Amino acid sequence: MTAVQSSAEDRGGDITGKPRRRGVPGRPSVLGVYVPAVVLVHLTLTVAGLTRTPVRLNDLLTFGALLACGAVCIETSRRLGMPAGVARDLLSAWWLPVVLLLPPLYALLIPIPLQMLLQFRVRRTLLYRRVLVIAALGVSGACASVAFHHVVPEPLAGTPGWVIDGWPGIPAAVGCAALFTVLNTFLVAFAAHAADPEGRWRDVLWNRESLLLDVVDLCVGVTVAVTSALSLGMLALTLPPVVLLQRSLMHQQLQAAARTDAKTGLLNAAAWQREADTELSRAQRTHDPLALLLIDIDHFKRVNDTHGHLLGDQVLIGVAGTLCGQLRDYDVVGRFGGEEFVVLLPGADTVEACRVAERLRGRVRRLAVPAEDGTIGVTISVGVALYRMHGDDLIELLAAADLALYRAKQSGRDRVCLPALDSPKATEG
Ligand code: GH3
Ligand code: MG
Ligand code: MG
Repeated sequence: MTAVQSSAEDRGGDITGKPRRRGVPGRPSVLGVYVPAVVLVHLTLTVAGLTRTPVRLNDLLTFGALLACGAVCIETSRRLGMPAGVARDLLSAWWLPVVLLLPPLYALLIPIPLQMLLQFRVRRTLLYRRVLVIAALGVSGACASVAFHHVVPEPLAGTPGWVIDGWPGIPAAVGCAALFTVLNTFLVAFAAHAADPEGRWRDVLWNRESLLLDVVDLCVGVTVAVTSALSLGMLALTLPPVVLLQRSLMHQQLQAAARTDAKTGLLNAAAWQREADTELSRAQRTHDPLALLLIDIDHFKRVNDTHGHLLGDQVLIGVAGTLCGQLRDYDVVGRFGGEEFVVLLPGADTVEACRVAERLRGRVRRLAVPAEDGTIGVTISVGVALYRMHGDDLIELLAAADLALYRAKQSGRDRVCLPALDSPKATEG
């Protein structure tokens, strides 16, 4: 399950590494209405549940055991840390059984202690986000719970027939778990979209990776629910594999975060260099052409001086998004530092590289980043270097592209340049 998804303010990219634009400071916020509305629904349902739900020892024991498992899961992966912004966890393994096996009140309650534990023991995030996540999980869980109890009225009664017969209990459990995931994703995605209205819905809903994780969540959650319906003691057997999965999920996310530039979501310099080296070795083997573009925003200091660093950051994110949107999946694009970006174009010859560079320049020129008093526009200068023609390794290519970029700046900015004909390698060639 997504721990904190509406992360547009503290992170530029999503789990896939695509850059994400951020909410503009000063823009009137739909969130101001939406978040209290979802929280109010959660509160109302919880109060209604508290007055109507009979207290049963078996329910309390199951709730306590699942809550304890969730807490153990959080505590045992705590030391690994949690990546900033969007983070996925496997806590659904514990709250899906609560949704399916216990009266809806418990589905409203379980996110409260577990999310508080995440907030105070793992990673503090803006309080309104945490509260929204709790309310969204609670409301979606309660809806899914009501739906499941409609099909299986007493899931824990006696020997649970719905587990042993399998029909219609198991398909209903899977369906209700899917309903829970879909509702929760929409509730949180709406907030993420409200925080960043220019972002694409696709980015805040599902991509291949998050869909796969949702399916894993669902399978693990339903399996734990079936196991604990058969015998609460067997819950102990499910704990170690879920903890292991949770830890490897965190590890994978932290590894991905270490490759990414937090502001723009592009590859950071070190990761870009590693990937570029791999592409260069491939080009060496296959004798395919390859080009490198060094891109620098023109007069960026002025943007900061005029509009402040926060809006300067928005421009960086906007430029990163534009570059990414114009390149192919196998082009390697990174932030080299400051307002400088670097792109490796496998398979590109001089004509293709200059065509791509011109397209990037044109698109960035059209970018209009919203500011309080209108929009901010920037231009870029691009230095182009070709493998073999201007350099035989990454260092030489970067040096050649840097010379070309210098030429572009010297000749008036907002242009694409190749290295001068008298550059060392060109002369040698
Ligand atoms: P030129 O056209 O010659 O490239 O001029 P420039 O102003 O873009 O270049 P200069 O190197 O003088 O200034 C770059 C500025 O980029 C200075 C620095 O404060 C700013 N900068 C670097 N990193 C960041 C960042 O992460 N966020 C913001 N907002 N500004 C940054
Ligand atoms: Mg610059
Ligand atoms: Mg610069």
